[in-house]
Amino acid sequence: MEKERKKNGNPQSKARGGVRCSFCGKELNGREPAVQGADGAILCRECARLAQRYFAEIEKEYPSKGSSLDPIKLKKPQEIKRFLDQYVIGQDEAKKVLSVAVYNHYKRLNYSAAGHDADQTEIEKSNILMVGPTGTGKTLLVRSIARLLDVPFCIADATVLTEAGYVGEDVDSILSRLLQAADFDVAQAERGIIFIDEIDKIARKSSNPSITRDVSGEGVQQALLKLLEGTDALVPPQGGRKHPNAEMVKINTRHILFIGGGSFDGIERHIASRMNRTAIGFKKDEERRTADEDENVLKYIAPQDLRSYGLIPELVGRFPVLTWLDELDREALRNILTEPKNALVRQYRQLFAIDGVNLEFEPEVYDFVAEKALEFNIGARGLRGIMEAMMNELMYELPSSDVREYRVTLDYVKSHFDKGLSDKLKNSR
Ligand code: ADP
Repeated sequence: MEKERKKNGNPQSKARGGVRCSFCGKELNGREPAVQGADGAILCRECARLAQRYFAEIEKEYPSKGSSLDPIKLKKPQEIKRFLDQYVIGQDEAKKVLSVAVYNHYKRLNYSAAGHDADQTEIEKSNILMVGPTGTGKTLLVRSIARLLDVPFCIADATVLTEAGYVGEDVDSILSRLLQAADFDVAQAERGIIFIDEIDKIARKSSNPSITRDVSGEGVQQALLKLLEGTDALVPPQGGRKHPNAEMVKINTRHILFIGGGSFDGIERHIASRMNRTAIGFKKDEERRTADEDENVLKYIAPQDLRSYGLIPELVGRFPVLTWLDELDREALRNILTEPKNALVRQYRQLFAIDGVNLEFEPEVYDFVAEKALEFNIGARGLRGIMEAMMNELMYELPSSDVREYRVTLDYVKSHFDKGLSDKLKNSR
């Protein structure tokens, strides 16, 4: 830019009869758009563009770090729950527990950001652990909350984590991902949310503490502990393995909210055996509730079940909030098709509406699709696959036809289902 400026002569000079750009000195013809500053300086369009390009380059090389943080626009637990209701079907208990925990976490964060930390009792952060079968909405819940609060969010898959120094991703790499999600704004990342998926997969294989550490299990749990407790971690901004000469960014994890999720397959056995060992309340024997008679034993989950499943006590202690999710039944699956704000059925109707076609579904179609998702054991994740396969022919035919109204009937769906779709679903399990 300096070169450009010299080439064009004295930037301040005014041309007779016209105005010159204060930066490059070019005479402006009066029709060309330009910007005028408070002291009368003029910036022509080319110079403005040049400056913009220059700043874009600089930004790439030195991404802005640190930012002025506004307090998080905090919603009350009931508002959070109402928001979640728009996207997630059922799971009322998990929604309530999450709403309260998230509310408390960010209340505490705003409070300490306002400088109240020192004079009051420090409120500890409440990381959350969600236990429930896969595909029941754990990730969806957390993603929705992060969107509501507009905080950076990332998902870490616990199965690929290993202790530092082993092949795989070391635990700090999670923070690089959060930093990326925060557009490299450290201050924003430091108040983000990290969802650690499949946290049950790093459980110790046996409940006896092993003498030799296992790389993918207890060692990872130990490494995670530090992050959960709150530590200053040095992470490479672009992720990947740490390199001695690479520039590192310091991230403090004290205010990051960690939410763990896992299916904990077979944990029901641990819950049931604990409950059968300990009488509940002081009821007579015949009135005692035995866990295995109950439908969803998960609702009785307690920290000791996680320990007997293979999480180390310190890690369990770092997730003070524990909640569970229900298996999705036929009704829930049916509702997932139609009710959420971005429900599949709404999406298809929208797609057709863009082509000027009003698409309707016979309500029986929804029951049929939900039934098939159950039958083929593909859960909510499988709903899209079924719908996509069913709708494909219509999406192919209708845009080229002059049909403006179409009602998808149960017969239509059934006949398409029989035409090979059921084989596809068997393979997708
Ligand atoms: P999980 O994390 O429990 O394995 P996800 O949240 O990733 O499951 O769910 C997978 C997909 O299934 C979601 O993206 C969503 O489309 C759908 N889904 C699952 N559970 C629900 C639910 N309770 N309400 C609405 N959609 C759901």
